[in-house]
Amino acid sequence: MLRRGGTIGILGGGQLGRMMAMSAVQLGYRCIGYAPEGDNVAAGVCEDFFTNRWDDTAALAAFAAKCDVVTWEFENVPVTTAQAIPADRIFPHPRALETAQDRLNEKRFAEGLGGKPAAYAKVDAASDLVGAVDRLGAPGILKTRRDGYDGKGQWRIGSGRDADALRLPDDPLIYEGFVEFDAEFSVILVRGQDGEIRFWDSPRNMHEDGILAASLLPAGKAVEGQVQEARRLAGEVADALKYVGVLTCEFFATHEGPIFNEMAPRVHNSGHWTIEGAATSQFENHIRAVAGLPLGDTATTAAGVEMRNILGEEIEGAHAFLADADTHLHDYGKREVRDGRKMGHFTRLTRA
Ligand code: AMP
Repeated sequence: MLRRGGTIGILGGGQLGRMMAMSAVQLGYRCIGYAPEGDNVAAGVCEDFFTNRWDDTAALAAFAAKCDVVTWEFENVPVTTAQAIPADRIFPHPRALETAQDRLNEKRFAEGLGGKPAAYAKVDAASDLVGAVDRLGAPGILKTRRDGYDGKGQWRIGSGRDADALRLPDDPLIYEGFVEFDAEFSVILVRGQDGEIRFWDSPRNMHEDGILAASLLPAGKAVEGQVQEARRLAGEVADALKYVGVLTCEFFATHEGPIFNEMAPRVHNSGHWTIEGAATSQFENHIRAVAGLPLGDTATTAAGVEMRNILGEEIEGAHAFLADADTHLHDYGKREVRDGRKMGHFTRLTRA
C-alpha cells in the first residue's frame, strides 16, 4: 500500500491526468507528470512536471526515480515508454496498452474472450479496401488501426465507389461494417491489486461527429438489458490482462446483443459523471487501485445524471451553467481554444 505522502507519476498531461491528480492530492499523495511539449493542463495540479519526449530514456529514468508508482492517463503512450518504468511500479501493466493500441489486436483479443465486435477486415493497401467492402458490404467505417481518437482517423464508406475514390494514408487500417445500433454505452470498471472488480452504472453515450457529446443515466431499456453480458466480457478483459485501475469498454446495444466497439485502458470521458454522481469517482478509485488502497463504493447517488462535454468556444459562457444549483462545472483550464476541442464538461444531477 502506498504510504501517505507517496508520489504517483502520471504519463500524459491532459484533463484526465488533471482530474486523476486532484483525487490523488485529496488522498494525501503527491503527483509528478510526464508528457511531451503541449497544453499540459495536469501540470497545474502536479508538484513537478517533466516536459520531455516519450523516447527520452534519461528523462524517463529520472522521472521513475522520483515516483513510488506510475500510471497513465493517455492510451497512446508508447509501449516502450511504459516499459521503461520498472514493471513492479507501473499500473496497469503495459500489456494493456499493447492490446488496446491496435484496433485489430483489440478486436481479436475481445473475440478470444467471447466478445462480438462489428464485422471487420484488415486493410493494408487500397486493393484490400475494395476486397473488404465487397466482402463486408457498405456502409462501413474505415479506421486507422493506431492513434485514432475522437473520430479522428476515420472515414465513412457509403459504397464501393467511395472506397475507389479514397486516397489511403500510409498506415495500417481496418474496415468495419456499420453497426445499426439502438444505443451506445460503456462499461466502466475498476480492478484492484487483489483482483476485486467493481462496476459503475453504465451510461448511455451520445456521440456527435465521432466525439462523445453526452453520457446519460438512467441509460434506458435498450442499454440496461445488455449491461450484464457486456460486464461479463469487460470483467474477463480485466482479468485476462491482470489489470489494475480503471478500464472502460465501449459497446453498441443492438438487437443481437452488445457489440464490442473498443476498450480504453484508462479513466474515460463517459465516466466523468462519477465525480458528483457516484459514491466514489472513477478518478479516486483509479488512484486507490494503483496505490493498493481498498476500493470505494461505485453506487450511483443521484436519480439521474447528465454529463455533457463543453467543446471549443462554448467554454467562454460556461459559468452560466452554474445558475442551476444541481449543475457542476469542470473547466480543464486549457489555454488554446480550438473548434471541437474538449475544454470542460458539466454534470447535472437529478436529486434522488
Ligand atoms: P470509435 O473511435 O471507434 O469509438 O468511433 C467513434 C464513434 O463512431 C463511435 O462511438 C460510434 O458512434 C461511431 N462508430 C464507430 N464505429 C462504428 C461502427 N462500426 N458502426 C457504427 N458506428 C460506429
